[in-house]
Amino acid sequence: LPTYVVHYSEIALKGRNRPEFLRALRHNLQRALHGLSPEVSLHDGRFLVEAEGDPAETGRRLSTVFGVVWFAPVTTVSPSYDDISAAVLAQAQGAISRSFKIEARRADKSFQIGSQELARRLGAEVAERTGKGVDLRDPGVVIHADVLRGRCLVYSGRSSGPGGLPVGTAGRVMHLFSGGIDSPVAAWLLMKRGCRPVYVHFYLAPGPDYPLDSKITRLVRALSDYGGKSSMVLVPFAEYQAATIGAPAELEPSLFRRFMRMTAEALAPSFGASGIATGDSLSQAASQTIWNLAAFDEGASLPIFRPLLTYDKEEIVTLARSIGTYDASLEEYKDCCAIVTRHPRTRAKASLISALAKKLEFAALVGKSIDLSTMYVFNPATGESRAAPLAAALRRGDGGEGQARGSPGAAPTVSSA
Ligand code: ATP
Ligand code: MG
Repeated sequence: LPTYVVHYSEIALKGRNRPEFLRALRHNLQRALHGLSPEVSLHDGRFLVEAEGDPAETGRRLSTVFGVVWFAPVTTVSPSYDDISAAVLAQAQGAISRSFKIEARRADKSFQIGSQELARRLGAEVAERTGKGVDLRDPGVVIHADVLRGRCLVYSGRSSGPGGLPVGTAGRVMHLFSGGIDSPVAAWLLMKRGCRPVYVHFYLAPGPDYPLDSKITRLVRALSDYGGKSSMVLVPFAEYQAATIGAPAELEPSLFRRFMRMTAEALAPSFGASGIATGDSLSQAASQTIWNLAAFDEGASLPIFRPLLTYDKEEIVTLARSIGTYDASLEEYKDCCAIVTRHPRTRAKASLISALAKKLEFAALVGKSIDLSTMYVFNPATGESRAAPLAAALRRGDGGEGQARGSPGAAPTVSSA
């Protein structure tokens, strides 16, 4: 079977979280390679991965696993000089370039030849047998020989992974998800640091069919390439809309955003989430001034994370393209934010928003909206998606990996303002 070496960041390994980190990374590697009969094993501080099928496909999937710093297809041989030199020679003969360099490393210091000496001997032998030249400064190909305990890995050509930390090692957050360009990128950045987002989307249509059959679910499926099994709560906007007719127009965005925050907070315990996230970028829109962000946050019982706070739009667009969400984000979609005023106040007073939220009985309104919500779950390993009323889905334990163990069906509780 084609074999790959997969390296993770040493920095992440400091401290007591090491076993958890490694368990999560191994699990996520296996998950990303579903259907390719993957075998993942740990050797001297790196993973060896065996997987069936096209190496290009395997490489594409490995590059979606957070925690992977780099990977390469390898030939594994026994740690004897003759076997190593035969494998190195085969690599050199297979390479198109005329110049090369050998890099040898020993994870197993009991190997009888030192790294420098091994590289020198291999280099001399390859040069003699192939007629190619050693070029230490600008080689056409670098051939690596990493001696581990019980085996040697020979490879050339490393590919970068996405870096970061394995998804699942940093807890869950309720992520306010609009399906614009920003919120999917924010989700990706949260996953990059090990968080698992549970998506929360507010929809305008009379029923959940419209968002279910739109870019909203397409984006969740695209992001599941990185995060695995994904859950989303679809919350109707209608209850809120009916209850807030006549609220001051210039406060509408801040008021609605406060409502979204409170809804996410109320949902958090059912999913074992310890934070709330948004795709806000400072001053990108009137609703995202520092004062309006403060009005959003006032009275929050959970920390609020804004991975894109300091990103320019161009930077966000570049990321969206590279992670594969940009095109879907541009698809036509009737968003509830489109109907709130285009000219909001840039300094909504936090205390005013809190007073209005109380007067309009947001706590009860949140409860009502949650009662009418839908849960969508997508499992990339099976390609299966499910949508069901939220309460029923929670009772069934349908949150899957997105749901905390031990709290199946825990009814969302609503705190006041
Ligand atoms: P995006 O590109 O993420 O849609 P935006 O530029 O449209 O962002 P806003 O509409 O002000 O900006 O939304 C800012 C943030 O508020 C979003 O990133 C998201 O976290 C949240 N949000 C906006 N609309 C919704 C929605 N319909 N459902 C859930 N969250 C939303
Ligand atoms: Mg935005």
